[in-house]
Amino acid sequence: MSTEDSRSPYKMAIKQLEKAAKYLPREREWLNAIEYLKHCQRSLIVSVPIKMDDGTVRVFKGYRVHHCDARGPTKGGVRFSKHVTLEEVKALAFWMTMKTAVVNLPYGGAKGGITVDPKHLSGNEVERLTRRYTYAIINMIGPMVDIPAPDVGTDSNIMAWMFDTYSIGTGITTHGVVTGKPVEIGGSLGREAATGTGLMYVIEALMEKLGINLSNQRIAIQGFGNVGSNCALQLHETHKPKIIAVSDINGGIINENGINIPDLVEHVNRAGTVVGFEGGINCTNEELLTCDCDILIPAAVEKQVTAEIAKEMKASILAEGANGPTTPEADEILKERGITVVPDILGNAGGVTVSYFEWVQGRDAYFWDLERINKELKKVMITAFDEVYKIATGKNVTMRVAAYIVGLKRLVKALMLRGLFP
Ligand code: NAD
Repeated sequence: MSTEDSRSPYKMAIKQLEKAAKYLPREREWLNAIEYLKHCQRSLIVSVPIKMDDGTVRVFKGYRVHHCDARGPTKGGVRFSKHVTLEEVKALAFWMTMKTAVVNLPYGGAKGGITVDPKHLSGNEVERLTRRYTYAIINMIGPMVDIPAPDVGTDSNIMAWMFDTYSIGTGITTHGVVTGKPVEIGGSLGREAATGTGLMYVIEALMEKLGINLSNQRIAIQGFGNVGSNCALQLHETHKPKIIAVSDINGGIINENGINIPDLVEHVNRAGTVVGFEGGINCTNEELLTCDCDILIPAAVEKQVTAEIAKEMKASILAEGANGPTTPEADEILKERGITVVPDILGNAGGVTVSYFEWVQGRDAYFWDLERINKELKKVMITAFDEVYKIATGKNVTMRVAAYIVGLKRLVKALMLRGLFP
């Protein structure tokens, strides 16, 4: 096993932080704040027992981690996956702190999850699991405390059960406790597609800076869940680039002439996977990551772009939809090879941005139309992109380092203003 495979995602995240911190002032209060940010504020591990449909009881392991609330209540998704570990949840919570700071939302970072493959449970079992988990972490969440949202393996139905369980548990119907809810019960228009839409806005802005026509680009996307499929659909509807390869956990498909994305979405709705789609030939995830394309969008899970992949990658732009898809070793190779990386903490911030709009709308009990949502989303994404791009070009650093500089400056300032209790 290589070092990068064995390294925990949290160690990987801290390495990213340390790399960017070198560009910040070296005074004691800055160093103190950076040290503070290397640690999560609190981590809860819970047992989640549920009665299965056959009458047996199974006990799952659940987590909720608050990384830092210096800039506001913590915010972050809930992941249901058999790969969930405390180290992964801590890393994802840390990236949420950085992300909310980069796009300047009044939030901190958190994350949660259960080690479970939800595909192996019935719908009723998933509901019982969600409700019991929510009850187990009820003291750690709340509209002014910590606000969960969907992530890998969770969706708006699961958010509806979390909202309901919290509201019953506290006796107060609380829209602001989770985001990514169905629109009928306080969800926001545009939230479902927001991460993919936000990533498209950032890619558009980058293309404009580089003087490249997005419509002429050949794009490959790893992961065809919420982020990957919505990004593909938005790109298809807006710019009609050639999306030549798409994959999921079961494998991928490739078509040099471009995949018909609406047809693929129909196929996935029927078959549950991109594999077997007739409008392309099968490929592996590794073949997708190294295929001959211009823009590669990882939208699955962490550590997919390893050093080996980075050496073989053909794309000149890596636009991160997933959290933590690129290892620090791969990052160095991409930099040496002159490949532009749109970092996760900027690229996929559209989801938390519309989650923020949902939280604001729920608290106001006044809901916006889709036009307003997308207009405001674009404003947030472009403002953050411009700030990051300016630092990257001005200091001659990667966009990842630049994004960390933007986020860290805001976080350090907040920590200094609040001071250290007691
Ligand atoms: P999802 O569960 O809807 O979809 C995940 C997709 O990735 C599926 O197609 C799955 O088959 C595929 N996948 C999983 N493991 C894989 C592997 N090892 N190799 C190839 N494909 C694999 O999840 P999502 O919400 O789309 O999240 C995807 C990524 O984006 C995650 O890193 C998540 O943290 C990040 N993210 C999600 C949001 C959001 O709003 N949902 C926001 C910001 C970031």
